[in-house]
Amino acid sequence: MNSVFEAIYSVWNQIVYAVSNIRIPFDILDILVMVFIIYKALEFLRESRAGQLVKGILILLTVYAVADWWNLVTLKWILSKVMSSAIVVIAVIFQPELRRILEKVGHTKFARGQMTGAENELANSISAACRAAGIMQEKRIGALMVFERKTQLGEIIDTGTIVDAEPSVSIFNNIFFPNSPLHDGALIIRNGRLFAAGCILPLTQREDLSLQLGTRHRAAIGMTENSDAVVLIVSEETGTISIAQNGQITRDYSAVTAEAELMSLLTNADSDENKTENNKLLTTVKKWLKIKDRKEDE
Ligand code: ATP
Ligand code: MG
Repeated sequence: MNSVFEAIYSVWNQIVYAVSNIRIPFDILDILVMVFIIYKALEFLRESRAGQLVKGILILLTVYAVADWWNLVTLKWILSKVMSSAIVVIAVIFQPELRRILEKVGHTKFARGQMTGAENELANSISAACRAAGIMQEKRIGALMVFERKTQLGEIIDTGTIVDAEPSVSIFNNIFFPNSPLHDGALIIRNGRLFAAGCILPLTQREDLSLQLGTRHRAAIGMTENSDAVVLIVSEETGTISIAQNGQITRDYSAVTAEAELMSLLTNADSDENKTENNKLLTTVKKWLKIKDRKEDE
């Protein structure tokens, strides 16, 4: 125990010494260059992904075992330093994968408790649509996605092209990617599948809407005035994510809050127990992200 305190004390002393002897601007420059090199190294590692990393870790462990066995003090010291930062490095490299795993765990517990097979497919499509919406928000790519419910949208589907594809983040992104053949118009999601793209929706005739809402948003509102569909919109101009239903539009969602909202609107997360859990989760997430939903029509 004493040795732990001694180690902490000696590290503290070294920090105090280093800080008190810092030479401006050279040491700052030194640190910035190191940060840049480490950043680039991590970026490189990230591109080479898991297989390479696992190989690297195995090699490090083997070398460490050999160094320990032959008591190679300097090598052991360097390797122990490298390995003590390994957890942080791995967390940075695998951040997207870790996030996906955590999201999956969240869904299983809160939203997908009592779902049938068909609802699970719908939930998958919602999840992929919202993750894609998050990417499109960052890249300022416009999108219009209609989730069909009981009202059949055959007439709308006839104005576009049948795709009938399995949902995935990349296919949502591909469809709305600027200049792709089907990026213009709306995507209709039927029974959890990307059913038709490039569809023309009816525009709302309302005159009391904000000037920020152009034809994409007016088409989303118009669609929900005439059917029970729910529409997810990403603005090309501002990146704002909105949801329209029953002729109303609610704006300023994040990918996460939009997903929670669509799950509770469209799937059987509407058992009372799940709804309360979802609402609690949604409120907590909004608090974290400091997001306020803004009703356009109020
Ligand atoms: P943004 O915030 O993305 O700019 P906006 O509400 O300002 O959206 P526009 O800029 O006019 O609206 O968006 C035009 C795009 O909206 C079109 O390229 C088309 O993809 C889509 N759009 C417009 N009208 C319709 C419609 N009736 N049905 C389906 N899609 C439509
Ligand atoms: Mg516009």
